[in-house]
Amino acid sequence: MLHWDEPVSFVKGATAPVRRAWESLGIRTIGDLLLTLPRRYDDFSRITKIADAQNGDVVTLEGTVHACFKLNTFRKRFAVFRLQFEDESGKLTATFFNQPWVLEEFKPGRKIFLSGKIQIKAPYGKTLASPIWEPAEARTLAAGKVAPVYGLAGTLIQKTYRRLMQYVLENVEWPEDAVSEADRKRMDLMEFPEAIKAVHEPENGDHAEQGRHRLAFDEVLGYQLALGAERKRSTKAGAPSIPFDQIFAKKFVESLPYPLTGDQKKSVWSALQDMERGEPMRRLIQGDVGSGKTVVAAFLAAHVHRHGFSAALLAPTDILARQHAVTFQRLFASHNIPFALVTRTEKRLYQGREDQPLKTGQVESLAEQGNVVLVGTHALLENHRLPKDLALAIVDEQHRFGVGQRERMILETRDDGHVPHLLSMTATPIPRTLALTLYGDLDISLIIEKPAGRLPIETKVCVGQRRESAYQAIRDAIARKEKAYIVCPLIDPSDALGVSSVTDELKKLSKGPLEGLKLAMLHGRLKPKEKEETMEAFKNGDIDVLIATSVIEVGVDVPQATVIAIEGAERFGLAQLHQLRGRVGRSHLPSSCYLLTDTEGPGLERLATMERVQDGFKLAEEDLKLRGSGQLLGTQQSGHEALVIARITDGDIISIARSEAQRILDTDPDLSKHPLWKRAVEGMRDTAHLE
Ligand code: ADP
Ligand code: MG
Repeated sequence: MLHWDEPVSFVKGATAPVRRAWESLGIRTIGDLLLTLPRRYDDFSRITKIADAQNGDVVTLEGTVHACFKLNTFRKRFAVFRLQFEDESGKLTATFFNQPWVLEEFKPGRKIFLSGKIQIKAPYGKTLASPIWEPAEARTLAAGKVAPVYGLAGTLIQKTYRRLMQYVLENVEWPEDAVSEADRKRMDLMEFPEAIKAVHEPENGDHAEQGRHRLAFDEVLGYQLALGAERKRSTKAGAPSIPFDQIFAKKFVESLPYPLTGDQKKSVWSALQDMERGEPMRRLIQGDVGSGKTVVAAFLAAHVHRHGFSAALLAPTDILARQHAVTFQRLFASHNIPFALVTRTEKRLYQGREDQPLKTGQVESLAEQGNVVLVGTHALLENHRLPKDLALAIVDEQHRFGVGQRERMILETRDDGHVPHLLSMTATPIPRTLALTLYGDLDISLIIEKPAGRLPIETKVCVGQRRESAYQAIRDAIARKEKAYIVCPLIDPSDALGVSSVTDELKKLSKGPLEGLKLAMLHGRLKPKEKEETMEAFKNGDIDVLIATSVIEVGVDVPQATVIAIEGAERFGLAQLHQLRGRVGRSHLPSSCYLLTDTEGPGLERLATMERVQDGFKLAEEDLKLRGSGQLLGTQQSGHEALVIARITDGDIISIARSEAQRILDTDPDLSKHPLWKRAVEGMRDTAHLE
């Protein structure tokens, strides 16, 4: 028998390369493996005959490779491969772009499945462009039904994954179900083991979806219990009351380099009122990218400092923490508010226009003195660096942090029994009703209005060699002394830090279309110091174009950057593309965003919504309409580990889980009668995104 918490090395047949692949997908234990859901399902239960396939149909075909060859094209960067495929009813051609491995895979006579959208094109007849394919052996493992398609890494292939999964499902010792039979009946939920089986070996699409529902329920309930418990403890504790100082507020507004937008003012005012009360503020600021959340944070931190208390701002990355420090320096300069930057590798004290490095121990002594502002990464949470008089805790890009990190910041800092006020900030565009359900514990301020003078970001999808228009736009922007980003996707999970994708792109561009421009790379392997120097040279120095992974996704603010080109755009979700696009359009200058891809077919339609829609909330809705799903909070890549199974469309489950959490907490606040949930909540406290 396999136990839930045992390592995956106990799985018979899981070789070292398989374990390495799982490891890079974040799978360590049997439980991790069972809770990692397939990306999607291929429905082999409905196979279409080529003769029956009509123009525009999305179909799965089963047949034999007749031949596969490379076409001669004159375009350098663009390789086209053609597959001739047949079943007993007819013939069809499929086209693959820039995927040389198909020559190896599609040997004449091999039996395969193809799925995609049929297009009838003269002179070829029925064609498929970049179809999804599977070896026909998959059918034996998927028992002619619906086959799970897992996220892969390294040399791991679907067939092996499914075979190992089958073994695990047969041999796992199921843990006790955390939801009693009566409760399952009441809420119409599947039994836990049944749900796990349903997502990995579904009988049909509905069955898989029901299984996922149950698992989403567990996930959201755990999250709600963690939030609810945190809230109960804070409310009971009370918070220091910060009187609203109108004179100072006015002075601060006047000192700003720009007028605040109406929504920024409203957010500040609501928070100032919250903090006057002795009950801890718990407010979430939801504002689209570039809407100006940082100045709200700075304003509130200044106000708290002015009243003799401390404030701290927690950011998810070194780059962002540093950028916030630069912003704070500018906004605080005329108010004599000292503050410190604290990351793992850098500690600095800022006073007026001066700043100097801090030695070991000096951050701790600043904290000891109190009445200070701290800006930093999770390094703030270590070594008792948070001051005992902390009255305001601000969490930027809150979805990047685990429940536990936030809890540590607010529940474990002060020793007078009080907790600091909490302000969370996020650009995740989830619809308001859903936000209320999910974050019902928080008051929500929306920043919808953009700062005055912002122009829409002109967005274009460029397929294949049309990339040239993006490179032209970049060259033009640099000639105007503006800056540009190029974002590369992580193609191979073994390149999780993006080193090779970024390096390859740099090589290609520096000898080709961007020859002569000053290019620099930003990826996960660089040391913090190197990242910082690169960002600095991009912002104020002579680097023209930054070639980066999606590390620049969150928060990076370089107003002179006016062009962003996103390579392999089809690999990103719309929400993530929107975040990336938000790196430009941060000043009055006209900006543009180019989505580069080699995909043709339905994927293009999704990308085209980016051309039409600018507003993050609307985009989230469009994405919903298009895909009928979408992750609840950003993307899996962004590292939010508390909610990966639940989706935006799970409104029902979310609201059921929420009332259930309230019911449980009302009668059993410390979860002593619900040991399984207690364990889940503790597990959730530990999951955290650490860059
Ligand atoms: P985000 O909400 O994405 O965190 P930031 O706080 O980084 O946005 O702000 C984006 C840019 O807009 C920054 O360069 C900031 O200086 C500028 N900004 C913020 N508020 C205003 C305003 N009211 N008027 C003009 N520019 C503003
Ligand atoms: Mg921000």
